[in-house]
Amino acid sequence: MKKLFSLFLCLFLCPCLSCAHTEDKPVTNVNENPYLILVNKQNKLPDDWLNRVDLISTRNIIDEENIVESHALIAFNGLRTCLLYEEEVQIELDSTYRSVEQQQEIWDYWGSTYGLEYCEKYLSPVGYSEHHTGLALDIFIITKDNVEIRDNDEMIADTTDFAKIHSHIADYGFILRYPEGKEDVTGYDYEPWHLRYIGNPEIAHYIMDNNFTLEEYLLQ
Ligand SMILES: [Zn+2]
Repeated sequence: MKKLFSLFLCLFLCPCLSCAHTEDKPVTNVNENPYLILVNKQNKLPDDWLNRVDLISTRNIIDEENIVESHALIAFNGLRTCLLYEEEVQIELDSTYRSVEQQQEIWDYWGSTYGLEYCEKYLSPVGYSEHHTGLALDIFIITKDNVEIRDNDEMIADTTDFAKIHSHIADYGFILRYPEGKEDVTGYDYEPWHLRYIGNPEIAHYIMDNNFTLEEYLLQ
């Protein structure tokens, strides 16, 4: 009853935007918001991308270096603190920015070891990885007993922690980039660890609440 009354007050009395209960699509303007950049298996990273973003170095709790776009890092730190205090879940950065040259090295190594077919199945083509943007953050979990949950299969199995994580990411401008059941749209299997910063919590909520992908949001 209390909840209903609050909703009534919010709908009819409160003019603030944060209380808007609309499901209308927030305005999309990729030119004004570079964080909406679409990089996937069909859309290559723009050649001048590195001139448009500010990449900085950071270190996770076990002193591994990561390069991340500066605003995405600020947002990640907010998300990390929120999850620690509100959910008692500790997330850390795993794989973040990857240069085109690094992707080429990975492609060449896997190609010579396992063959082209393997690369095409499991790797992004060089120049087409979202990790080239600095806005894609792969995370892992450290448990209270100091155990790392970092293996892909273990992370997919840890549905409890990832449900908590995913419930907060939009507040900080992140979306789950490769959701379950959207493999045909994204071209990637479900990756609960791969967060993508899009710079706008309102748009992030719209995408997450409607179970959209970035492709569906930009092209609908
Ligand atoms: Zn990733």
